[in-house]
Amino acid sequence: MNTRHNERCSFCGRERKDVRILISGLSGQICDACVEQAIQIVEEEVRKKSKNLNLDGVKTLVPLEIKTFLDQYVIGQDEAKKHIAVAVYNHYKRLKSRKRTDDDVEIEKSNILLVGETGTGKTLLARTIARILHVPFTIVDATVLTEAGYVGEDVESILTRLLQAADYNVEIAEKGIVFIDELDKIARKSDNPSITRDVSGEGVQQGLLKLLEGSTVNVPPQGGRKHPEQKMVSIDTKNILFICGGAFDGIERKIGHRLNTRVVGFNSAKETEHIDRDNLLQYIAPQDLKAYGLIPEIVGRLPVLTYLQPLDRAALRNILTEPKNALIKQYQELFGIDGVELTFEDEVLEFIVDKAIEFKLGARGLRAICEAIMTDVMFETPSGNTKKVVITLSYAKEKLETVNANKLKAA
Ligand code: ADP
Repeated sequence: MNTRHNERCSFCGRERKDVRILISGLSGQICDACVEQAIQIVEEEVRKKSKNLNLDGVKTLVPLEIKTFLDQYVIGQDEAKKHIAVAVYNHYKRLKSRKRTDDDVEIEKSNILLVGETGTGKTLLARTIARILHVPFTIVDATVLTEAGYVGEDVESILTRLLQAADYNVEIAEKGIVFIDELDKIARKSDNPSITRDVSGEGVQQGLLKLLEGSTVNVPPQGGRKHPEQKMVSIDTKNILFICGGAFDGIERKIGHRLNTRVVGFNSAKETEHIDRDNLLQYIAPQDLKAYGLIPEIVGRLPVLTYLQPLDRAALRNILTEPKNALIKQYQELFGIDGVELTFEDEVLEFIVDKAIEFKLGARGLRAICEAIMTDVMFETPSGNTKKVVITLSYAKEKLETVNANKLKAA
């Protein structure tokens, strides 16, 4: 046998000493570089052949149906639900009605901004809507984004995720929906940007603007800066719908300030009379976002501005038991799998809500409190032969006494 011949890549002809790895087959060899190239060719072909997104056969849910679906999982927040339902409905319509001639009306997208305290259901709304979508969807966190060249992720990584959600089919990714969480974290930190470099603030907003306003962006399909050699993919963001969310802590002050300054003038007494000072978020307007540190161009590209209500006692109580996968239902399901019937005294549910309010944990705290109460019983029940477990108020109180609030907050 000719060993010298065996020492070459059968594709590019390079010798073993010139390549990193040479893999042998039955009657030939392939080097690592040729493997990589082959993978790229295969992926490209698959991408070309994979079927295009066809929404024609998909029944579009009307806004009311979308909202009814959201109602099963998310308590309250009707305003936000309506806006999301309409935006998603219109998104589908826009995708289906392609512009035929230059004279046809072009329907522009309406990106959304949801403002609300943490733990009021912004991410939950996004996750829930994703369940009924037939277009690719991804959730990204704005806190990880930094200006190009700094530690963190480039803005383009948002599109990488969408591309991944679309199985690398560019055409499909271009029709997707992106939820950007914690948008407030990229607000400009100070009015004077020259003091320190604001690498996670205004620069990121400028980058994001490019995506929001619709442009062709070069995206590294594998994401990140780890693969500098990868071939960039062009994605047109014109039809991608962006839904943003943020807590905008302290924006009430800006809203209050604006409402107060408006007092000078006609009708002022009448207008201020009706202001609900305890919930200023409901009066949020684009200029408050600018005052908070978003650049005007970004604000302009998020034309639908809506807010989420802070969750009151009744809402927290409902969250425990009403949604399709409510916490209490989840525990009952867990016990049910072992053939154990689990019930809670009503006072326990009230107690859990009281504690969530007392510790200022909101809806996020409900799970932590439930876990603190349930851990021991979940540990012990499977080893016994109990078929019925009732969580009483005294049991709940006893279990929670041993846990301090700080620990719950960290959960
Ligand atoms: P946000 O994104 O606004 O900070 P999340 O959507 O992450 O808040 O909410 C945290 C958790 O609290 C959710 O996983 C959910 O269990 C619960 N929750 C919050 N708001 C609601 C709501 N309106 N309806 C039902 N559950 C909620």
